[in-house]
Amino acid sequence: MAKPAQNEITVSPEIMAGYEPVIGLEVHVQLKTATKAFCACSTKFGDPPNSNTCPVCLGMPGALPVLNKHAVELGIRASLALNLQVQESSRFARKNYFYPDLPKGYQISMYELPLAKAGWLEIEHDGQIKRIGITRLHLEDDAAKNLHEGFPDSAEKSYVDYNRGGTPLAEIVSEPDLRSPTEAHAYLTALKQVMLFTEVSDCNMEEGSLRCDANISVRKRGAEKFGTKAEVKNLNSFRYLQKALEYEIERQIATLESGGRIAQETRLWNVGEGRTEAMRSKEFAHDYRYFPEPDLLPLRVSAAWRDEIAAAMPELPEARRKRFVREFGITPYDAEVLTSTRELADYFEAVAGAGAPAKPAANWIQGELLRLLKDAGKEITESPLNPKELAALIAKVESSEINAATGKKVFARMFETGKPAAEIIAAEGFSQVSDTGEIERWCREVIEKNPDNLAKYRAGNEGVFKFFVGQVMRASRGQANPQTVNDTLKRLLA
Ligand code: ADP
Ligand code: ZN
Ligand code: MG
Repeated sequence: MAKPAQNEITVSPEIMAGYEPVIGLEVHVQLKTATKAFCACSTKFGDPPNSNTCPVCLGMPGALPVLNKHAVELGIRASLALNLQVQESSRFARKNYFYPDLPKGYQISMYELPLAKAGWLEIEHDGQIKRIGITRLHLEDDAAKNLHEGFPDSAEKSYVDYNRGGTPLAEIVSEPDLRSPTEAHAYLTALKQVMLFTEVSDCNMEEGSLRCDANISVRKRGAEKFGTKAEVKNLNSFRYLQKALEYEIERQIATLESGGRIAQETRLWNVGEGRTEAMRSKEFAHDYRYFPEPDLLPLRVSAAWRDEIAAAMPELPEARRKRFVREFGITPYDAEVLTSTRELADYFEAVAGAGAPAKPAANWIQGELLRLLKDAGKEITESPLNPKELAALIAKVESSEINAATGKKVFARMFETGKPAAEIIAAEGFSQVSDTGEIERWCREVIEKNPDNLAKYRAGNEGVFKFFVGQVMRASRGQANPQTVNDTLKRLLA
């Protein structure tokens, strides 16, 4: 393979520092509905090509769209989570253009009257909280998928899979409030997290359920007016978003510095070459001949329906982070890591709910569990240890039944075999001391040192027994066989 052409533009850091990037993102998320936006076809990913189609999503003349209520509900939920004003009345419009992946000859979108307007999303960047404005959220249907590769005759022909055509999308347009590629990255990360926590979208970038176009311009630092922007498409990973923006900033500055002008155009991120390339001059709204969709009524969202959706809103990542700190007494950093996905947050809560103290639970999950999952290429939902089993192991370490080092070994075996801690400890003996003589010596020592508790026990306080077990386990540095300790103590204390 040819070596990818390196970014051949070079602008000195001093010159770069004289400019400020201005970025706004347009993000498409696929709404997690079972059926399409305007027909009853399945939205399932990966079904045989063209198996999920009907006259409506194939654009047959005379077929009429019927709006999917669940898609609207998810759009409203996303809007509320992004602090947007849900409009009482919005309207679908036809966006007309001709392309093989668009059998109707138009996309059903929203234009002058979007579902929601004027919201914001907080991002954390460089240790600071920044509020990024969100201009609007509107609903639309997705195009089908052109397949240019993978067929014996791909050199001459392209194919189209219409399964995706008609899938409901929400387009979320940010204000030009982002000032660096890393800020754009942080915004997309936060947005994805909100969409995941609210179960609006599964945000799977590989499957195309989260897509992002980046608008970018540069201006001299201190200038008020924005520069001319370019729009970069085809950014199907977080890394490409950042790389494409970095490239584009340098390209625009180099163009301006050499006396050129920025063309208002649509550019494409070329993954192989690591650069953006001009694709077409910018299309304007009037190119699309927008007009109200005559086959659908205006969309009305009553205050009551909106409030009902708001009341059922799942907990957002930010709220959950704060609650973790408050409720479990863990650090903000731990809370941040543990809320990175909803599934991980659920897992942590389940471990704590099964009786594990929060701080050790947080440590075990962030340390051992995430490390082994990463090595195994697994997600938290595929963890071989269920939360209850992890809580049981943590309890054994916390009570000194086994020491921390042994705990880690047991943990690794649990991860490998999916067996409970007790079973592994019993079966594998984990360097336990079962020598009855040695154990008896520890027991006698502990009893001698604790005459008060001995008296309590003999007076009928059975609860003290646990104390003695704990002390003996500690004395043995967690290595005594617990059953033998139990038996020996029972005998000696009686
Ligand atoms: P268009 O008319 O090209 O669709 P919009 O004003 O609708 O432009 O904005 C589209 C996106 O581009 C938004 O995310 C917005 O924040 C962003 N944007 C607008 N102007 C600029 C600019 N000068 N530089 C960078 N981004 C911009
Ligand atoms: Zn259909
Ligand atoms: Mg626009």
